[in-house]
Amino acid sequence: MRIILLGAPGAGKGTQAQILAFKYNIPKLSTGDMLREAIRSGSPIGKEVETIMNAGNLVSDETMIRIIEDRIKYSDCENGFILDGFPRTIPQAEALQGLLNKLQIKDLIVLFLNVKEDELVKRISGRYSCKNCGMGYHKVYNVPKVPGVCDVCSGKEFMFRSDDNEELVKKRLDIYNKQTAPLVCYYKEKNKLISIDGMQPIDQITYSIEQKIQDLVNK
Ligand code: AMP
Repeated sequence: MRIILLGAPGAGKGTQAQILAFKYNIPKLSTGDMLREAIRSGSPIGKEVETIMNAGNLVSDETMIRIIEDRIKYSDCENGFILDGFPRTIPQAEALQGLLNKLQIKDLIVLFLNVKEDELVKRISGRYSCKNCGMGYHKVYNVPKVPGVCDVCSGKEFMFRSDDNEELVKKRLDIYNKQTAPLVCYYKEKNKLISIDGMQPIDQITYSIEQKIQDLVNK
């Protein structure tokens, strides 16, 4: 099963990707996480992208396509993967399609998490994640069951993203509207788009996604 999670920053892609990866036992490929890790490790790609990310801009299509091409070849992707944050532009979507054609993969599921813009801003300001496993939380909407302890891995250290500040959030939403939102039409025209009401509570969103996937599998 190959899943693309489409949606604006703050739509809940990372949260759902994490849950679905666990449920379907396939890896979550978050390009944002991969880039943040590259920056932390000081790798050449990390050095190349740090200023771009800190300014809230998109990394070049060429770099992103190379990263995803390399990652999809890993053996853990043989039975599927969940893409969180890729593709983000039409050229990235086209490159991904070329790659899937080459690998003779036809089972692509595109899920669009639809969330209103004022809700996105509320969600982004206040979100944080477990330093160990990356599980996402929110100060108000999604706190760990035991305060200060990650539900998934029992980790006790958490982190905020440096690009989740008010000024950059507006810029990232603007870039999303200009460069990524056209992908909704792109996949709709290909009859691939499954729209999910991303305003629902987290477990309801997961349930809606699972129902849609089940419908596709039963077709
Ligand atoms: P995210 O964690 O998905 O919100 O991504 C954080 C940042 O990483 C973005 O604001 C971009 O700078 C960069 N990034 C992640 N994925 C992509 C992509 N597919 N194309 C270009 N830039 C990306």
